[in-house]
Amino acid sequence: MSTRRRVGVLALQGDFREHLAALRACEVEGVPVRLADDLQGVDALILPGGESTTMAHLMEPALKQLIQQRTAAGMPVLGTCAGMILMAREIQDGRPDQEPLKLMDIGVRRNAYGRQIDSFEAEVDSPATRGPAPAVFIRAPQLTERAADVEELARHGDQPVALQQGNRLALAFHPELTPDRRWHQYFLTLDGKAR
Ligand code: GLN
Repeated sequence: MSTRRRVGVLALQGDFREHLAALRACEVEGVPVRLADDLQGVDALILPGGESTTMAHLMEPALKQLIQQRTAAGMPVLGTCAGMILMAREIQDGRPDQEPLKLMDIGVRRNAYGRQIDSFEAEVDSPATRGPAPAVFIRAPQLTERAADVEELARHGDQPVALQQGNRLALAFHPELTPDRRWHQYFLTLDGKAR
């Protein structure tokens, strides 16, 4: 049995190249995913930062469905910023036609940080990174609700900014825009068992 992991990165829009580079730095093969077929042979998936409305529009229905099925079957999924919005069950301040993938039992509000601080960098402390790690926030979403089994892994100020529900990990920030690889390494430890 091959132990080589292949991790897909949704590559329709946004900072997927930075995620592919982060995976290379972790010595894992990254696979750009544009169509449902690209998900074959991939054993985990990253939804990058960018513009969630654009990504939702560019995703073919077959790819959406397959992502939903594979996630329900236990495939680990990481969403960063716009990727977190795509994973949510409920979106506030989304576009009316913006249908989320509903991969995780969270609600989010898009662009929830005010205009003055819509982009900033911070150190975020988490047991997942075993200490403070740099985090880039760019027009980040905020959590509005979560199911009881959604675990908070990190907080910035009074906001939960890293959330995990079994095989699903949602970050309001962009670890891929920093040279620190601990969030990707943590994601790669998720085992993909169905929960
Ligand atoms: N505000 C963007 C959205 O709604 C997310 C921004 C980001 O990914 N940096 O999709």
